[in-house]
Amino acid sequence: MSEAKDNPGSAPPEPKPSNFIRDIIVEDLKAKKFGDAVVQTRFPPEPNGYLHIGHAKAICLDFQLADEFAGRTNLRFDDTNPEKEEQEYVDSIQEDVRWLGFEWENLFYASDYFAQLYEWAVKLIQAGKAYVDDLTADQIREHRGSFTAGGTESPYRNRSVEENLDLFERMRKGEFPNGAKVLRAKIDMASPNINLRDPVMYRILHAEHHRTGNQWCIYPMYDYAHGQSDSLEKVTHSMCTLEFADHQPLYRWYIEQLGIFPSQQIEFDRLNLTYTLLSKRKLLQLVNEKHVSGWNDPRMPTISGIRRRGYTPEAIRNFVAAVGVSRTNGTTDLAMLEHFVREDLNKHALRRMAVLRPLKLVIDNYPDGQVEEMEAVNNPEDAAAGARHVPFSKTLYIEHDDFKEEPPKGYFRLSPGKEVRLRYGYWVKATGVEKDSAGNVTAVHATYDPATRGGNNPPDGRKVKATIHWVSAEHAVTAEVRLYDKLFTKPDPNQVEEGKDFTSNLNPQSLEVIADAKLEPVLASARPGDRFQFERLGYFCADLDSQPGKLVFNRTVQLKDTWAKVEKKNQ
Ligand code: ATP
Ligand code: MG
Repeated sequence: MSEAKDNPGSAPPEPKPSNFIRDIIVEDLKAKKFGDAVVQTRFPPEPNGYLHIGHAKAICLDFQLADEFAGRTNLRFDDTNPEKEEQEYVDSIQEDVRWLGFEWENLFYASDYFAQLYEWAVKLIQAGKAYVDDLTADQIREHRGSFTAGGTESPYRNRSVEENLDLFERMRKGEFPNGAKVLRAKIDMASPNINLRDPVMYRILHAEHHRTGNQWCIYPMYDYAHGQSDSLEKVTHSMCTLEFADHQPLYRWYIEQLGIFPSQQIEFDRLNLTYTLLSKRKLLQLVNEKHVSGWNDPRMPTISGIRRRGYTPEAIRNFVAAVGVSRTNGTTDLAMLEHFVREDLNKHALRRMAVLRPLKLVIDNYPDGQVEEMEAVNNPEDAAAGARHVPFSKTLYIEHDDFKEEPPKGYFRLSPGKEVRLRYGYWVKATGVEKDSAGNVTAVHATYDPATRGGNNPPDGRKVKATIHWVSAEHAVTAEVRLYDKLFTKPDPNQVEEGKDFTSNLNPQSLEVIADAKLEPVLASARPGDRFQFERLGYFCADLDSQPGKLVFNRTVQLKDTWAKVEKKNQ
């Protein structure tokens, strides 16, 4: 029987859970594996798309672990593929890393090392460890074998060092067309690890690079550049995702052959989220095929998308910390991410009243032309946020949903003869309705009780069962509100019938636009990026498109927390 369980108040604070990467670093420092060098990490994105929430996990690990040990973190662009890389991506990645709250020590590019990598390639040729191959890409693939069958050596494998040096130099000079030749490492075509079966080091690509222009027409493969880039930067702990575990022996092979600084690679699990795709290639397809408005569409799992949607950097960092790291891949519930967004916004977002689907409420016994300024609390979680005034008048808007002419059982909001509290306003009792020719309710009539000003209980002790929100019709500002739902209908968007792709799982209802929501007047001055809780509706954020007089809000997340419920059940 544990004391903590019986008396939770006396439980000692839980120690911060460690993780295996931190443990490795602690051991390495103890053993002085890298001498007196400080912990050096890097975040190494390829600038071929915008960063997504999966990258946020890698970023937090790289920066926070270095920081914990008073180390340093670089941002390095692994820009070895000129055909897919662009300056736009380089810029967005820097903006996103900063927004997440991190500042790099140095900004590097693998393309800065092209000359050094070329020199090292020559060195490997001279040592008989690399050769120029004339096989086509398809032939090389065929020769590589499979997991079960070993590979076949290329007929060009035993060219002389002189011939290889000559051909490699001519490759660089541009004498050969794309694909005519490659430089390969000479390792072992029989290796059980396919990555060691004479991997390609350089390919011919007559393509302009976003930084080096036309200086090069041969480009190093990612696998030939990555480990040496780490080494050049004296990266002590090089964190990457599990799919690179099989590449580690190759990175080590290059480092050993070249006798250069041995960075230690540590692999961790990729973040996967339900109802979400985290692959730049697929996200690019969504953009190109215009399934979304762009990389920063608020439905995208990109950092720029979730920023625009209203997520906070704190929420993402907290989420990443709670997810933790592991040595096996798994999938995290999207509801968990939303939980952390809600938790952070709950602390900081100012409360406001907004009516998404307005229904007129006319208070017949309220004086014509009278306006009262009602005091409303800005954030019950934060006394320092103070209060504001909300105008109250004879004609209000309430949510369509908050009135039912024939209330079903258990419906406690407004209905004929029933009384509810208008938050910060008065208690009102519905007396009748107006209808259009089709029989739809177009307005509700009510009376109010002056003794309930501020929404307070009347002296006679009677009770109401519901509190609803409202705005004054005359004072309200109109706004467009964009309601988002999951972008995909399946927890695993990649699960498709044969012959279809993930786009067949797109949720046709992922965006609903409300053109004329009615908001309380202070929201007229909201600036893009400002976040609020619209009472009873959810958290909202003024969109980038929002302008004075033409307001646009995004729903960041609804109030209901499904993940918290799941967690409770599991306890
Ligand atoms: P994508 O498949 O989305 O293109 P990537 O791995 O090719 O991703 P990089 O630009 O190479 O993207 O990634 C930079 C760093 O971010 C790498 O160290 C990579 O391991 C890490 N990373 C990428 N995706 C995830 C993820 N889902 N979870 C955790 N880390 C990730
Ligand atoms: Mg990649």
